[in-house]
Amino acid sequence: MSKTVLVINAGSSSIKYQLTDPVDGTAVASGIVERIGEDMGIVTHKYNGESHTTELVIADHGVGLRKVLELFEQYGPDLEEAGIVAVGHRVVQGGSVFPGPTVITDEVVEQIRGLIPLAPLHNPGHVRGIEVARELFMQVPHVAIFDTSFFQTLPAEAYTYALPKEITQKFAIRRYGFHGTSHQFVSREVANVLGLPNEEVSQIVLHVGSGASVSAVQNGRAVETSMGLTPLEGLVMGTRTGDIDPAVIFHLYRTEGLSIDEIDTMFNKQSGLKGMAGQNDFRELLRLIDEGSADAKLALDVFVHRLVKYIGSYMAVLGGLPNAITFTAGVGENNALVRQMVADRLAGFGIALDPALNEVRSGEPRIISTPDSTVKILVVPTNEELEIARQTVAKIAE
Ligand code: AMP
Repeated sequence: MSKTVLVINAGSSSIKYQLTDPVDGTAVASGIVERIGEDMGIVTHKYNGESHTTELVIADHGVGLRKVLELFEQYGPDLEEAGIVAVGHRVVQGGSVFPGPTVITDEVVEQIRGLIPLAPLHNPGHVRGIEVARELFMQVPHVAIFDTSFFQTLPAEAYTYALPKEITQKFAIRRYGFHGTSHQFVSREVANVLGLPNEEVSQIVLHVGSGASVSAVQNGRAVETSMGLTPLEGLVMGTRTGDIDPAVIFHLYRTEGLSIDEIDTMFNKQSGLKGMAGQNDFRELLRLIDEGSADAKLALDVFVHRLVKYIGSYMAVLGGLPNAITFTAGVGENNALVRQMVADRLAGFGIALDPALNEVRSGEPRIISTPDSTVKILVVPTNEELEIARQTVAKIAE
């Protein structure tokens, strides 16, 4: 182990962490603090192939992170020997304020706090995590890596909503895009696999996990993405609607008297695959389909249809067939059926999967299209922690 970055992803009631070697990509140790602020909390620490779980009341993020330090002492690795050079924090919403990785100062913390109205579900937890981590790891720089930064290159016609200009300006309403760290990591990996300079690749990246988003990346720069002001827009997700006519909100409000908060919860937490079929986990959805559930089959079809619609529109945005279409994240990396269903719908473009390659299970980036497919289809495992670690190290070296 040479030098490492401690990558922290703090949510409202959880803190994920990973001690990462930014050079060889090794996850030296990792873990998660869960159920902060609940009756009973839980911390899981993983090192050397072993997993250690502790239950305790975790009143706040400070208690949680102090427990993590204890677990490092108890089970290893030794944090002195780990040579932590910096802490990299994942931050979901950087607004238009942060176009790239940013060394965290008191002022930056206040700016991230100032973006809470744009990301009420995410930024409050990030701020708490950052504040606590800065106290516990005072000796090293802390860097914020924003999910939105990669999409700050979107052209105005892609990020502007057709609302009154005074409104979009006053409330900073625009499409920001999310999962940027993943799209950035994966799109660069694609260029490596194709053996082409990133600056010459035209590609579409499908990040399909419990949250899901598509991006169009041209010559290393993002030109379109499916998530918007918040991660609600775009693809069908585990529990989110994705694209929907906003008039559904007016209708539910007027006819059912539902409150804005109730509709917010419905659209973010009770919709998507869960809303249509009762299950947000893809493996469970497939089990329901095997058992003959018509709802689950329809949910899968809606999910695939939305993906195909986005791919088609992004090919138009890119002005022609891209070099590559790539699947990543939980479903994209692991589910051959979805990949096959998507590819079948694109056959009219001369796009074809090799069924045998599609079935191969591997943790490696790989091409799964036939040699004569007009577009290369790839599977590339995403690694947001490694991307955060790399960007953190690059930032502090500036
Ligand atoms: P993520 O948000 O990227 O962790 O992805 C979570 C989603 O990936 C869940 O819907 C899981 O059911 C799905 N997933 C994970 N592993 C598999 C697998 N082996 N086969 C099918 N789906 C999977």
